[in-house]
Amino acid sequence: MREKIILICEECLNRNYTVTKNPQKNPTRIELKKYCKYCNKYTIHKETK
Ligand SMILES: [Zn+2]
Repeated sequence: MREKIILICEECLNRNYTVTKNPQKNPTRIELKKYCKYCNKYTIHKETK
């Protein structure tokens, strides 16, 4: 069972990435450092529903 989630940039709040995760394996909200083209740098991206 995999869940589709959206990752938003913590700085500009743009929805930059869509990923899937396994809720059983990873029940907490994920945070990933990813490139944001709006900020033009690597920022923390957080899971949103
Ligand atoms: Zn950004």
